[in-house]
Amino acid sequence: MITAVFPGSFDPVTRGHLDMIQRASRLVDRLIVAVMVNTSKQPLFSMADKVAMISAEVQDLPNVEVQAATGLTVDFMAKMHATVLVRGLRNEQDFGYERDIAWMNKSLNDQIETICLIARPPYAYFSSSLIKEVAKMGADVSKYVPDAVAQLLQTRLRERANE
Ligand code: ADP
Repeated sequence: MITAVFPGSFDPVTRGHLDMIQRASRLVDRLIVAVMVNTSKQPLFSMADKVAMISAEVQDLPNVEVQAATGLTVDFMAKMHATVLVRGLRNEQDFGYERDIAWMNKSLNDQIETICLIARPPYAYFSSSLIKEVAKMGADVSKYVPDAVAQLLQTRLRERANE
């Protein structure tokens, strides 16, 4: 049985992430979407928000589950008996970044293989950060994120503006 982990900060989950999750779920027996803390990014959403948002969107995928995780991805994977780490590649910049992480993870735990799925248009054109940026300026982002996520995004941005 192959267990894979798709780790990310998902701040928030986008239609691009969900396309990756659906595609990856067809390749493995069990897929765990791991909501991780990216120490170089300041999150807008709490871990609980993120887990709830993703869980609602993957309900129809029986072999997918969502978990919050802290610490090293490879340590979380060992705990879950997962051997495949899934990441998405949108462009050349992603490639450089993902290659370095994959090399590091391989050297931390040789049992783990990273597989990268190539993002497809139109998903390859956007990121969570860009979506938050345009949403802040009042753009309708329902093309890029599920409707429930777009709504919560408005709420969190309003709260942030009032802080
Ligand atoms: P991280 O902070 O770990 O990079 P992200 O949530 O930004 O977390 O991304 C998680 C994974 O999803 C990464 O491999 C990233 O390349 C991929 N990804 C991000 N946005 C998209 C998208 N629009 N389409 C496909 N894959 C994406």
